[in-house]
Amino acid sequence: MLLLRRFAGTGRRRGLAGLASGVPRETADAVVVGAGVVGLAVARALAMAGREVVVVEVASSFGTGTSSRNSEVIHAGIYYPPRSLMACLCVRGKEMLYKYCAERWIPHKRLGKLIVATGLAETAKLDMLLTNAKQNGVDDLQMMEGSQAMEMEPELRCLKALLSPSTGIIDSHSFMLSLLADAENLGTTISYNTAVIGGHVGYEGLELHISESKELHKHSLGSHVSPQLTLLPKLLINSAGLSAVPLAKRFHGLNPSFVPTAYYARGCYFTLSQTKSPFSHLIYPLPEDGGIGVHVTLDLNGLVRFGPDVEWIDSGMDPVSCFLNRFDYSVNPTTCSKFYPVIRKYFPNLKDGSLEPGYSGMRPKLSGPGQPPSDFVIQGEDVHGIPGLVNLFGIESPGLTSSLAIAEHIVSRYL
Ligand SMILES: Cc1cc2nc3c(=O)[nH]c(=O)nc-3n(C[C@H](O)[C@H](O)[C@H](O)COP(=O)(O)OP(=O)(O)OC[C@H]3O[C@@H](n4cnc5c(N)ncnc54)[C@H](O)[C@@H]3O)c2cc1C
Repeated sequence: MLLLRRFAGTGRRRGLAGLASGVPRETADAVVVGAGVVGLAVARALAMAGREVVVVEVASSFGTGTSSRNSEVIHAGIYYPPRSLMACLCVRGKEMLYKYCAERWIPHKRLGKLIVATGLAETAKLDMLLTNAKQNGVDDLQMMEGSQAMEMEPELRCLKALLSPSTGIIDSHSFMLSLLADAENLGTTISYNTAVIGGHVGYEGLELHISESKELHKHSLGSHVSPQLTLLPKLLINSAGLSAVPLAKRFHGLNPSFVPTAYYARGCYFTLSQTKSPFSHLIYPLPEDGGIGVHVTLDLNGLVRFGPDVEWIDSGMDPVSCFLNRFDYSVNPTTCSKFYPVIRKYFPNLKDGSLEPGYSGMRPKLSGPGQPPSDFVIQGEDVHGIPGLVNLFGIESPGLTSSLAIAEHIVSRYL
């Protein structure tokens, strides 16, 4: 039987409690590190393919990382370079996600979005986006004059706009809950408060070093984190989000040249204090360095938020703090002074004092400031030569939209 459960005491969702000294070793079929939206989608897909799955999650619940700190937008697949993983998995993921939401009654809305050009120089960029989107198989976009867009959205000011009817919003928590239920119904075990602290490619294959999360907390007080359990999985999916790179750096035997450099960029949101939304569509300016611009999103309750901006942060955090998600998520209220002029380019009636600090998320990036945007990296044995190891790096936006397709990709390629 699954050792995590054995060492966890009684319940499926308990942590690793009461371990004796020494490091017990146990075999496992498939282990997924991280219960974010991608880890859960992968666990569900592996379980559907007949694998016995254990999800190891450092936090006390699922989806507490980037998966609960995003715009909750179902992206159409407009921006990403043709044939990139982001383009292919976003377009496929969107289709799968709408189908899944409809079948499972997951709250979502196909609101549509307008990408707007507010200056003459920007109109050519809209044309380029249209061409790019077509190459990605997004063929429902409509270019429109500013007057037509402003008729649809009277508070909007723009010269030209691109309407994406298939962009929508989703209740990401309900989505994750449903993925979790599917996976658990198929026998998946979730071990919360449990961290993967490293690994080793040994004679018996992959060895994963596991510890209770509370041991990681003690690490901040200066103590060394030792594994309490060694797991020997046949298949290991490193879906640790912001920690995927620092974790892979701790897999001894994996050639470090296959582990990219991690960069982190915080994105802050401000909410609009007025209760009635000025817009019925999502409104996006043109993309900027590191992000897709401070846009207007609506949640399913009609609340309006603006963001995320892009703030590069120092990537020098120690791995254990990273596993514990000790990033600074505070939203500095004074940064709203930068939001007003950007938003007023397309929403001139935005009133002074109407923005309130919301929340922030951290992008797990593989390219730094000024560098060209990077693609998702999904690395298996074909790349790094280690049987059974799949690393997911740089799963930033559109990772939520792409989650079901990422899972499908892994099952079709690595099982
Ligand atoms: C500001 C922002 C806005 C975004 N907006 C959108 C959007 O509108 N639409 C969209 O499609 N995408 C969006 N994204 C991207 C999307 O949120 C992510 O791609 C997606 O949530 C990534 O999911 P994940 O499961 O890979 O990572 P996470 O949700 O971060 O999950 C990783 C999990 O691994 C756990 N973990 C970490 N280290 C360890 C360890 N050592 N041992 C055990 N567990 C560990 C963490 O606790 C966490 O639960 C946005 C991202 C950001 C930052």
